[in-house]
Amino acid sequence: MTNKPAKPINLFDCATSQKVIGQENFLNAFKTILNHGGYAQGPETRELDQKLADYSGTKFCATCGSGTDALTLALMAWDVKAGDAVFVSSFTFVASAEAPVLLGATPIFVDSDPNTYNMNPQDLERAIEEVKKEGKLNLKAVIAVDIFGSPCDYDAIINIARKNGMKVLSDSCQSYGSVYKGKKAGSIADMSATSFYPTKPLACYGDGGAVFTNSNEENELVKSCRVHGMSPEDHYDNVRLGMTGRLNTFQAAVVLQKLKVFDQELKDRFRVASRYDNELSSYFHKQQILDGCQSAYALYTIDCEDRDGLMAFLKENGIPCGAYYPRPVHTQTAYAKWNTRSLPVCEKLSKTVLSIPMTPYLDDEDLDYVISKMNEFAASKTSKAA
Ligand SMILES: *Cc1c(COP(=O)(O)O)cnc(C)c1O
Repeated sequence: MTNKPAKPINLFDCATSQKVIGQENFLNAFKTILNHGGYAQGPETRELDQKLADYSGTKFCATCGSGTDALTLALMAWDVKAGDAVFVSSFTFVASAEAPVLLGATPIFVDSDPNTYNMNPQDLERAIEEVKKEGKLNLKAVIAVDIFGSPCDYDAIINIARKNGMKVLSDSCQSYGSVYKGKKAGSIADMSATSFYPTKPLACYGDGGAVFTNSNEENELVKSCRVHGMSPEDHYDNVRLGMTGRLNTFQAAVVLQKLKVFDQELKDRFRVASRYDNELSSYFHKQQILDGCQSAYALYTIDCEDRDGLMAFLKENGIPCGAYYPRPVHTQTAYAKWNTRSLPVCEKLSKTVLSIPMTPYLDDEDLDYVISKMNEFAASKTSKAA
């Protein structure tokens, strides 16, 4: 039995697309920027705004400095502030909850669905009832996170939010390229935020992000907050609080190059996922994708009772993997004071989920090896149990 893949296998792959696109194309794009000198929010950022709005099917897109900036700018456009309750799942990357907290709002953590790992709409309803009963906070917004690239149950979440006078912000930082019932990420909720961090499905070579909306007013507010709350008429009059949230022009040029291969990369992510779906042992519970939806597969994640044993086994066999996320946000030190609700599903998931190699550039040889080793582990478990 070999315990090494024939060639190294990556959990993420931030490098191969550079070869596929051609390094000279990046260098030429960078040279254009060096020559025109618009380093921050140059013409490439406006071209990217337009291309992404077209891709998502939204009226507006405003690129910005990161996914965290995108979430924060969207909430700023809604004037989220102290005294507001913002409902967010706890089984996510910390930034989903950090954005409302930075604005002084109170995050209300919501439990996950055990199969999709996304926000559980029933628990959202319970959390809303609890906040209403206490009567201290203003019901403001729901942040729906598409964990690992897979769309949330938006029909249910939007319906619950509407009944309670709240807006829904989609945290699409992992799901750009996903589809919810015919709508692309960016166009599903009231506003959406995405990230171009190098390990995300559509990535740059540093930090970047974007906010999507169909509302001209929201888009203008995001653009103003992105540059310190600047008035569009008088650039020396700042009419609201904002931040430095501009996208660096070089990163916009990278995303423009990456867009050329994005659809092919998504197809290749589906190819990898469908081999895992079809060939991995049923001992592993795979993340459930909702009917009529397509994940962007930022990660391919399974749930396994002996997660730590599986991790050790895969490492021994030269297969990289990652436990995303080993600590739900409400259990982290900086968020302890908002650890007010019982969240048993997300606490259980944090102990049992594992993400295995998912890149558009895994070939059949890589996948044969990963699948055979995963299934070898499953067989050793099920024979012991029998
Ligand atoms: C990556 C990520 C963010 C933050 O994006 P940055 O670009 O790193 O600021 C927010 N939410 C989720 C779910 C993410 O995965």
